[in-house]
Amino acid sequence: MALNHKKSKELFNKAKRIIPGGVNSPVRAFKAVGGNPIFIDSAKGSKIYDVDGNEYIDYVLSWGPMILGHAHPTIIKALQKAAEKGTSFGAPTPLEVELAGMVRKVYPSMEVMRMVSSGTEATMSAIRAARGFTGRDKIVKFEGCYHGHADGLLVKAGSGAATFGVPTSPGVPKDYARNTITLPYNDLNAFRKICEKAGKDIACVIIEPVVGNSGCILPKPGYLEGLRSVTKKHGIVLIFDEVMTGFRVSYGGAQKVFKIKPDMTCLGKVIGGGLPVGAYGGREDIMRKIAPDGPVYQAGTLSGNPLAMTAGIETLKILSKPETYKKLMAKSEELEEALKDAAKRAGIKTKFYRAGTMFCTYFTDREVYNFTDAAKTDMAAFAKFFRSMLDKGINLAPSGYEAGFMSLAHTSADINKTARAAYESFREIK
Ligand SMILES: *Cc1c(COP(=O)(O)O)cnc(C)c1O
Repeated sequence: MALNHKKSKELFNKAKRIIPGGVNSPVRAFKAVGGNPIFIDSAKGSKIYDVDGNEYIDYVLSWGPMILGHAHPTIIKALQKAAEKGTSFGAPTPLEVELAGMVRKVYPSMEVMRMVSSGTEATMSAIRAARGFTGRDKIVKFEGCYHGHADGLLVKAGSGAATFGVPTSPGVPKDYARNTITLPYNDLNAFRKICEKAGKDIACVIIEPVVGNSGCILPKPGYLEGLRSVTKKHGIVLIFDEVMTGFRVSYGGAQKVFKIKPDMTCLGKVIGGGLPVGAYGGREDIMRKIAPDGPVYQAGTLSGNPLAMTAGIETLKILSKPETYKKLMAKSEELEEALKDAAKRAGIKTKFYRAGTMFCTYFTDREVYNFTDAAKTDMAAFAKFFRSMLDKGINLAPSGYEAGFMSLAHTSADINKTARAAYESFREIK
């Protein structure tokens, strides 16, 4: 009883003629799982509806932002009211000051911050600030961590030990890539070694404290603490890219859970409440280098946009209520138990990882500690699982390297339906 995707197919064929791959962001194209993407008409709460009228329980949540569920009435009302006052001024508004103040209360390490319009802008600007502050050129990133699509960040490691980067994407000059050092995640020794060799040339380390862009990979005990102490020793700026983990691992992000104070933090996704927002900030001495306080240039026509700020403020207001995270964590735990139970009953070997409201099921019987481990899991099994779940009305991210997300709008009925579909899908692919 495959669902009807006639209109989605027609639209995809039309889209492919005028948009690369028919999509405005590559992973939406379903390349990793086969088949055609579904085109969305609308969404409400935990559900998303495609143009053919099919309903799905949604665990993509726009890749993380929709933590309150889709089209939350409070957010929509606030946006309507804000839109009537004008949609962009290119001048400061009280809303930016309000959102920055709210964010700093939850992320006190962000002493001074700037609003931008995407996670990509936040990470590239934070790195520029770190380079301007230290006067050093090299940066360290970790394999399997995604920090947006800025040139110097589209670099992955060669095999084995630390390699000075080769670009992963054509179009990235070798000279850029040369300044990016890529190391395996969860390997403190590799990091210590590179610092002993080249520490005085390294401006910053950027890391997803919990890796959400290779599934969901947790830091080993002591790893983040180790990064903190080694970076301090070498005068290297430690940047936590919490674009995904912020407000997801906990209200205060990964830095709150693991009790680490990074020098700089990048946010995105949830702080925009579904509108385009990113933010970067951190130690005052670093952030005062940003123009016009200092010489490091960074700007944006739509930065601090009043609609985007409104969605962020209203989202954080709801998130700041103490009962919100109790509910979010309880729902996430309920889903974890239900999915683990479904796998066990179906007799299929999986590893399930969760950090707060983000999670991932890997098709493997081995623990996953880094990108290499994730790449060794059975991605073909994931692709089959994904298609079977979609056909049963469950929308997962179309790649085995992506995390799933929980929202405040998901109900126990949603979770039960998801677990039933998962059990049947596990059985089908076994
Ligand atoms: C999504 C993401 C980004 C990029 O954010 P965009 O808004 O897509 O530019 C950067 N870092 C992390 C950790 C992300 O998950």
